[in-house]
Amino acid sequence: MNILILGSGGREHSLAWAVLQNPKCDRLIVAPGNAGIAQIADCASLDVDDPSAVTDFAVENSIDFVIVGPEAPLAAGVVDMLRNAGILAFGPTAAAAKLEASKTFTKEICDAANAPTAAWARFTEAAPAREYVRERGAPIVVKADGLAAGKGVVVAMTVPEAISAIDHMFDGAFGEAGAEVVIEEFMGGEEASYFVLCDGKTCLPIGTAQDHKRAFDGDEGPNTGGMGAYSPAPVLTDEIAKAALEQIIEPTMAEMTRRGTPYTGVLYAGLMIENGAPRLVEYNARFGDPECQVLMMRLGGQALDLMLACAEERLAEAQVQWADDHAVTVVLAAQGYPGSYNKGSEIKGLREMPETSSEMVFHAGTTRQDGKITATGGRVLNVTARGKSLKAARDQAYAMAERIDWPEGFYRKDIGWRAL
Ligand code: ATP
Repeated sequence: MNILILGSGGREHSLAWAVLQNPKCDRLIVAPGNAGIAQIADCASLDVDDPSAVTDFAVENSIDFVIVGPEAPLAAGVVDMLRNAGILAFGPTAAAAKLEASKTFTKEICDAANAPTAAWARFTEAAPAREYVRERGAPIVVKADGLAAGKGVVVAMTVPEAISAIDHMFDGAFGEAGAEVVIEEFMGGEEASYFVLCDGKTCLPIGTAQDHKRAFDGDEGPNTGGMGAYSPAPVLTDEIAKAALEQIIEPTMAEMTRRGTPYTGVLYAGLMIENGAPRLVEYNARFGDPECQVLMMRLGGQALDLMLACAEERLAEAQVQWADDHAVTVVLAAQGYPGSYNKGSEIKGLREMPETSSEMVFHAGTTRQDGKITATGGRVLNVTARGKSLKAARDQAYAMAERIDWPEGFYRKDIGWRAL
């Protein structure tokens, strides 16, 4: 079959890599892709946030199946339009993607589904929000309602910090996304991510992971899109994962179906685990980046069968073939990231990197110029390895990272520390 993947990051490189291992894939196009993806698939320039452009492209290229990587095309309704045109697509409709796009929407669904999450209140004006925070005290969490690229959340350790976050959001720091503010109870515990495929009727777990949001070792420095990840997440034991599925994810899915907006695609549940009990932090309507890289490393070619079963509403008969393995990905980022950084520096040593079923360098922000690979983004490479243990996978990923010759980049040296 002919397959189109939308996106250009390490997530999409790992999706392409996994899909290509499956003999069902005859032709793969990734739009827009990157320099690493271009080594294994055709890349096409395309405005992936434009549903008509994507649908026209899919029709013109006889695409049988579209896999949507990032959230923006989902929120724009790309899956809706593809389905209307009779093209199979992996991902939720715009209405279902609201589980990621609006925090108040998710909170209402959780309340209706009786899913454990932090107590919350919604505000459209600063004065009552400030009053609420003074009443409740700190620590407390202040969130802009809409999508703010992970920057719309302030975990305030003091009341003045929370009040300044409220004022900042109502002053328009996040535009429309901050017109409504959610204030939440602070949840203690350890965070982990749970990935579940949903077809509107059945939920099929496909793995757990933990990521590292802070830029520097020891979880220091500013928040980033993610500096590394590992799978599985030992904190999500079978028992806790089962509780999360039965108490949080399945009731959420049932409520979405009851509302006439069934959720289809991968649901990424961000969980907080405290005293053996999971609570929901947030939902994302897509694979995480870099969590996708470790999931794909572990699933390999069966990822395509699972995504197809999901899109064709056949999850009830699908099964994941688990190997007793672990995967680690280490993000190489440009110095200065997540602040300002230089673009255009050359990365050497990539040609000597192993490319096997258990070792891959997934590209994120790279381009090829005059035969050289150059860095064009903040997060640039994802050095990913799989092994019998977390330590073996991690040692291999770091051995590879050390051999990449890129003085303008940096990476954390402690990915997986919590689990080791
Ligand atoms: P991202 O997309 O970057 O994950 P987001 O903007 O969707 O972020 P959330 O995931 O809701 O926002 O929050 C970001 C982070 O803030 C969480 O990963 C978690 O560490 C912390 N956080 C959010 N809500 C709470 C809470 N109620 N208690 C404690 N920590 C929280």
